[in-house]
Amino acid sequence: MLRVVPFEQGSASMKQRLGGKGANLAEMTKVGLPVPPGFTITTDVCRAYYAAGGQLPDGLFEETMTAMRGLEEAKGERFGDPSKPLLVSVRSGSVTSMPGMMDTILNLGLSDETVEGLARATGDARFAYDCYRRLIQMFGNVVFDLESFHFEFLLQRAKQRLGIEQDHQMTADAWSALIDEYKAVIVKHTGLSFPQQAEEQLKLAIEAVFRSWNNHRARIYRSIHHIPDEQGTAVNIQSMVFGNMGADCGTGVVFTRNPSTGENVLYGEFLMNAQGEDVVAGVRTPMPIAKLEEEQPEVYKQLVSAAMKLERHYRDMQDIEFTVEKGKLYLLQTRNGKRTAQAAVQLAVVFVKEGTITKEEAIQRIEPFHLDQLLHRAIDPASRPDVLAAGLPASPGAATGQAVFDADTAEAWSRAGKKVILVRSETTPEDIHGVLAAEGVLTSRGGMTSHAAVVARGMGKPCVCGCEPIRLRDRAFEVAAADKVTATIAEGEWISIDGATGRVIRGVVQLREPEMTAELEELLGWADDIRRLQVYTNADTPEDAVKARGFGAEGIGLCRTEHMFMSPDRMPVVRGMILADTPEERASALAQLLPMQQGDFEGIFRAMEGLPVTIRLLDPPLHEFLPNVEELAVQHAQMMLQQAADSAERQQVEKLLRKVRSLHEMNPMLGTRGCRLGLIHPEIYEMQVEAIFRAALQCLNEQIDVRPDIMIPLVGHAAELKLMRELVDRVAAEVLGEQQHALHYRVGTMIEVPRAAITAGSIANHADFFSFGTNDLTQMTLGYSRDDAEGKFLSHYVESKLLPSNPFQVLDREGVGMLIRWAAEQGKAVKPQLKTGVCGEHGGDKESIFFCHAEGLDYVSCSPYRVPLARIAAAQAALALGDAPPVRPAEPVQSA
Ligand code: ADP
Ligand code: MG
Ligand code: MG
Repeated sequence: MLRVVPFEQGSASMKQRLGGKGANLAEMTKVGLPVPPGFTITTDVCRAYYAAGGQLPDGLFEETMTAMRGLEEAKGERFGDPSKPLLVSVRSGSVTSMPGMMDTILNLGLSDETVEGLARATGDARFAYDCYRRLIQMFGNVVFDLESFHFEFLLQRAKQRLGIEQDHQMTADAWSALIDEYKAVIVKHTGLSFPQQAEEQLKLAIEAVFRSWNNHRARIYRSIHHIPDEQGTAVNIQSMVFGNMGADCGTGVVFTRNPSTGENVLYGEFLMNAQGEDVVAGVRTPMPIAKLEEEQPEVYKQLVSAAMKLERHYRDMQDIEFTVEKGKLYLLQTRNGKRTAQAAVQLAVVFVKEGTITKEEAIQRIEPFHLDQLLHRAIDPASRPDVLAAGLPASPGAATGQAVFDADTAEAWSRAGKKVILVRSETTPEDIHGVLAAEGVLTSRGGMTSHAAVVARGMGKPCVCGCEPIRLRDRAFEVAAADKVTATIAEGEWISIDGATGRVIRGVVQLREPEMTAELEELLGWADDIRRLQVYTNADTPEDAVKARGFGAEGIGLCRTEHMFMSPDRMPVVRGMILADTPEERASALAQLLPMQQGDFEGIFRAMEGLPVTIRLLDPPLHEFLPNVEELAVQHAQMMLQQAADSAERQQVEKLLRKVRSLHEMNPMLGTRGCRLGLIHPEIYEMQVEAIFRAALQCLNEQIDVRPDIMIPLVGHAAELKLMRELVDRVAAEVLGEQQHALHYRVGTMIEVPRAAITAGSIANHADFFSFGTNDLTQMTLGYSRDDAEGKFLSHYVESKLLPSNPFQVLDREGVGMLIRWAAEQGKAVKPQLKTGVCGEHGGDKESIFFCHAEGLDYVSCSPYRVPLARIAAAQAALALGDAPPVRPAEPVQSA
């Protein structure tokens, strides 16, 4: 077991053991960049700690102290020595970056005695006490689990008493007095006193880092981001450098390129005379990095050259933490920078053009769900929003919601189905569930690298930060201009934020549909060359079809015809059809619907010229088109009270009520729907099929290449499909007549009932294609009704790890996936040319797309906005899993 590794002995390749931070500190040391000396206690030790029930392994502390001797030598200082005290930071560092999840302790090694030594050695008592009070606060927070506000409150009170605003106005005496209060707070709340022995501090801090791996917020973060619990964290112990020693000191964060747009400029912030977390905590609003060039040109030059060196070394945009101590630059961290979707695409393409990475690497670097963010809506430039204030554009995308002022309310309201914008002065890791629940985040303080900004960017949520004109009040915020309050927004009022420009807007705004950039087109073109899976779209209207085609859809995998029945002008006709007393009445209603449907299909065929269009015949139970039975009953009762004699109106309502009641089913999802409807009321499907072929014929006559695929829903038995196919072929022959040979059409089915999957061999005899309707297939395989599951027990199942993820979002490979595999194999064994695809929501999910690729399906179909995402994911699947579909000889199993 590797336990303690000095920076100069590690490297980036040891990330699993050293954690991301430790591995990169080692790598930077190796390439000769100025990193304060330190060492890493490995993730092996973390696992050993938990295996032993929360105990450091034997001899570990001794080994740690041996490594400390190395630091003492390098710095010419001694740990715990009052005359020349060595101070260190203790920093957690997991393998996968977990921003803001575990806190760092700075200035460890200070005590009542050594602080005096530090004051003498530096000749700066104010500085020494500042360091000490920070240590006590961080130590109290991390080791003793005391909430930071205990300390913040005392600091605020002290500043108020002294009539000062900023921390740096505090004098040595003021800090010294505050230190006594801090120590008293710890005693009061824990019964323990702040340890005065450096070694004891170190031991407690190491244990606290390991403990923090399992704290609540770390566990939440891991479960959101699917980080395994066994990964463990490393502990980095590093000698201190000080950004709080005066005006030629400071601390900052830079990205080697703009992480919002990808633009090639050094991007970041710097806070003079400050230490550690001051920048990210949003305590003061820092200055842009370009200002550093004016103030300390020499340091700026060092920074630029270090940044360029790191980017070249890692072949990716870097996010760098640095500190300047008395005009000298030190690097404290580097990692691949988190970026917006826009920047991710931009950078991937630019790095290929710069010759830094290959096209394949570029594709692999794209996080598919990021494209979802990229294709998010923006505020319509033509709209005239009521702009209240402007802050920093911290994470792009526009969002509208009701203002809420704490994370718990955000979560509760969002559970209740409301859209919320979380408004805070700044966010902390404790707010993470609120950020998750919100449409977007607005803060009044903090910069582009503050916690809120980083977390929102990571989650792809719009965010506006550091919006200083707003002031938080009790469950409201005020907007002030020139010290006058110009607006007040209370909890529950609607606001909008524009994370691309930083605007904060009153009310709901008009949003504009996203567009593809040239870089994205280029990247998607590379993906198309690599992927094997085709990408279709789910589209019910010509508009959606056009949009999806613009995003690169290669066909329609699911066109739901019921939506065509729902528009207000058609509802009366549809109802007339359902309520008809005689076959003649029904025929006349259907005759009215026919040209409407024909028009719909013509529109879609034109939009998808040359590409396959899969049209699903009517699927939902008929009562969905009728009014709600309870409302009708109430209306009827009121009429009975008001009208003595029978009125025509009342008779109408009575008739409707009777019909609705007669169509009522205990469990409509499992009732008369899908092909069952088509078998019981063949005239409805006949009309739809006639409309499809008339539309096709019309297009054919206009020289438009049409490729209709007719899809029969909810088949469970081969005999059902056999009958439905006969219906389709018969109507086709009638409508097309002579032209039947000019048109190539296919008839297939959705595989969405487990029995259909199991008997796929028989069903394939009557099908040209299988489209796996994974939404229903998941419901029926797991026996979950989606609406009930997602609202009630599913989150519990996922949180307690009974299920790895929501099976309606990520395909359940072990269950549903095996049905798909079986059905595809059986089907192809009977009909090698059988086309297979997925048209459930899973068609737009990366993991599920990987599965479809691995199983050798022909296509996935997803909503228009997800088409680009699916193109990338399909290419990533081909790169990760290889190109060839599986060869699994299958014995066809057929029953009558
Ligand atoms: P996080 O993972 O939250 O970024 P870090 O361990 O990077 O936590 O540390 C928090 C802050 O403290 C950062 O600004 C970092 O640069 C600073 N810091 C950490 N170690 C030292 C050190 N040895 N000297 C000076 N500043 C440090
Ligand atoms: Mg932190
Ligand atoms: Mg850091």
